[in-house]
Amino acid sequence: MKYSPIADEHGFYGDFGGAFIPEMLRKNVEELKNAFLYYSSEPEFIAEFKALLADYVGRPTPLYYSKNLSEKLQAGIYLKREDLNHTGAHKVNNTIGQILLAKRMGKKRIIAETGAGQHGVATATVCALMGLECIVYMGAIDIERQKPNVGRMKMLGAEVRAAESGSKTLKDATNEAIRDWLANVDDTFYIIGSVVGPDPYPEMVAYFQSVISDEIKKQLLEKTGKENPDMVVACVGGGSNAAGAFYHFIDSDVQLIAAEAAGRGVDSGQSAATSVLGTIGVIHGSQTLLMQTKDGQIVEPYSISAGLDYPGIGPMHAHLIHSKRVQSIAITDNEALSAGLSFSRLEGIIPALETSHAIAALERLDIQGKTVVLNLSGRGDKDLSTYLKHL
Ligand SMILES: *Cc1c(COP(=O)(O)O)cnc(C)c1O
Repeated sequence: MKYSPIADEHGFYGDFGGAFIPEMLRKNVEELKNAFLYYSSEPEFIAEFKALLADYVGRPTPLYYSKNLSEKLQAGIYLKREDLNHTGAHKVNNTIGQILLAKRMGKKRIIAETGAGQHGVATATVCALMGLECIVYMGAIDIERQKPNVGRMKMLGAEVRAAESGSKTLKDATNEAIRDWLANVDDTFYIIGSVVGPDPYPEMVAYFQSVISDEIKKQLLEKTGKENPDMVVACVGGGSNAAGAFYHFIDSDVQLIAAEAAGRGVDSGQSAATSVLGTIGVIHGSQTLLMQTKDGQIVEPYSISAGLDYPGIGPMHAHLIHSKRVQSIAITDNEALSAGLSFSRLEGIIPALETSHAIAALERLDIQGKTVVLNLSGRGDKDLSTYLKHL
């Protein structure tokens, strides 16, 4: 593993990215960037990262040839089993990387924001592992909606703080986390959960997640004699599992597909299809596509899947979609639910609702005869009650 940048030196991917932050944070963000640039190529850091991924997280995750789905769709479909990671999704790859960096930087206190609670759980997990204080900001409404994950975070020793402002959801939790960081810049490390936020976060999170496509290449070579598939498909909220699955294929002719949440339909007013509905603006410290009104107020996104319910999209994806390197497909709640149900019965694997958006995208694509890798970003235990309501 060696880091080679995708963004330019200021963290821009074409028109998107950068670091739009208060002056008071500039020194810390620069300190973080320097630490990342140094440690991302340092052998001891990488050895520790890889050892934890192997024995704590359970990597490499299998690349499973999905015989039943392949027969049904007449293609060669491989599932990258990120659902088998410790804590049940890809998010822990990133929190392991960032906690190791926080330790190297001598930080004593970890903060994070979470929507559905998945990133909060992954952060609380690595804080317990490393014995660091953990504070997770979460919208008051999300705390009500996501009780099991709030319980997990508490069990792991994290403090969950409610964001009571605005719509009391993810963007308000993020504002609270940034406020905390501003007040505690010296001893606090902010672990961001997707390829969003100011430079260097998108680069850093993509790099830690790039282990996914690194493994795909090796596993596919072993199984098929070729390291590149014809197509890679992943769901996109902020875009971290997709960034990891696309990473080592960006400079190739492999077709890259991003499945976004259309919610009740792209034109329904209840959607999270950012690449279609978004316009350029600044959110969470970077310039990217986001859902906003004409005067720049953020439009509340909607998706049945809490992990895709985000008003922006990472700047790397904004650029890749804008430049047509990545094709985005908007999948409705109903399409995702029905794909998740039939996939469970076909393969004996219950996918996260986020992942079901990627599975549903397969039906919309021309994949006959192609070798396709589907990134199975997480397991669906957390979504059972939602699935069952629609059975
Ligand atoms: C959080 C989450 C996502 C969405 O986040 P990305 O950063 O876009 O990957 C997708 N799938 C699962 C299982 C998640 O927990």
